[in-house]
Amino acid sequence: ERARLGKLKTLPAETLDGQAVELQANLEIPAELPLIAEAGAQGIGLLRTEFLFMNREDLPDEDAQVEAYRGILEAMGQDPVTIRVLDWGGEKDMEALAEGVPVPTGPNPALGLRGLRLLLKRPALLEEQFAAILRVAHLGQVRILLPMVTVPSEVAQAREIYERVARRLRRRGESLPEKLPPLGAMIETPGAALAADAIALEADFFAIGTNDLTMYTLAVDRAEIDVAHLYDPLHPAVLRLMQFATEAALRLRMPVSVCGEMAGNPKLVPLLLGLGLRSLSMNASSIPRVKQAVRSLDIDDCARFARRVMEQSDPKRIAELVEEFAARTN
Ligand code: PEP
Ligand code: MG
Repeated sequence: ERARLGKLKTLPAETLDGQAVELQANLEIPAELPLIAEAGAQGIGLLRTEFLFMNREDLPDEDAQVEAYRGILEAMGQDPVTIRVLDWGGEKDMEALAEGVPVPTGPNPALGLRGLRLLLKRPALLEEQFAAILRVAHLGQVRILLPMVTVPSEVAQAREIYERVARRLRRRGESLPEKLPPLGAMIETPGAALAADAIALEADFFAIGTNDLTMYTLAVDRAEIDVAHLYDPLHPAVLRLMQFATEAALRLRMPVSVCGEMAGNPKLVPLLLGLGLRSLSMNASSIPRVKQAVRSLDIDDCARFARRVMEQSDPKRIAELVEEFAARTN
């Protein structure tokens, strides 16, 4: 089995009818880089940058960030790398927060100052991170991703800061790519998903984060054991939001990917492809099995299957359909 999955590495991620599917890796710490190469990922679809800010007394300065991004981009060569700016707050490890970043406290941190909201409140943090990324952007194929967007104007505000930082760097004589790296939005709240058509006018690409999208849609924190059984990305509400956001992007021919846990489950590949998605980012270790699933599927079958799933109202029934389809195609 391992040898068979290993051989997959050199084979293309493409369906039986020849549709290419981009399979990328999520990266949490640079130590995972060798796993990415081993898995045959087509780049990094989600580089979480929280590691840079954790377990330290002070904030990493711009130069320290430059070195971290440089190492990752050099390891990835010309494979695309999507760098997400700091997503602090919520369930993330706030204890380890570096001095100088406001800790979201409040009665409900998940609904408070987290992700892009925090960065817009402390624009100096965002400016430094943008600057560090821009300074190494010429080394590879970079995209920048904004976490926890809920309002289109947040993306517009971030873009203003982004372009201001780029102008300042150019004046200073830094060699920036002629065309700035695309600036995208995470779609990981129900509000963002339902406003996806408006957010699409401000963003260059979407990354659908199914972990937070499921939590916020169903009002379930996975860490709360009493309600963990209700945490289900196959709930029709979550799937409809994903469908709405995906279609908003596809109408504008704007790139859209899924980068939550869902993307790494081979049994869910038919549904995701059937919804029109062609780009999935996951833990590197999931890539071989997901690729195997992609290579066993026909897009028209997937589309029919997705239509059937989207008619269902019961998450349990959807889970059964997913199992049945997986059993038939493997
Ligand atoms: C998500 O919410 O699905 C996501 C990919 O982001 P994170 O898991 O880092 O919150
Ligand atoms: Mg998230």
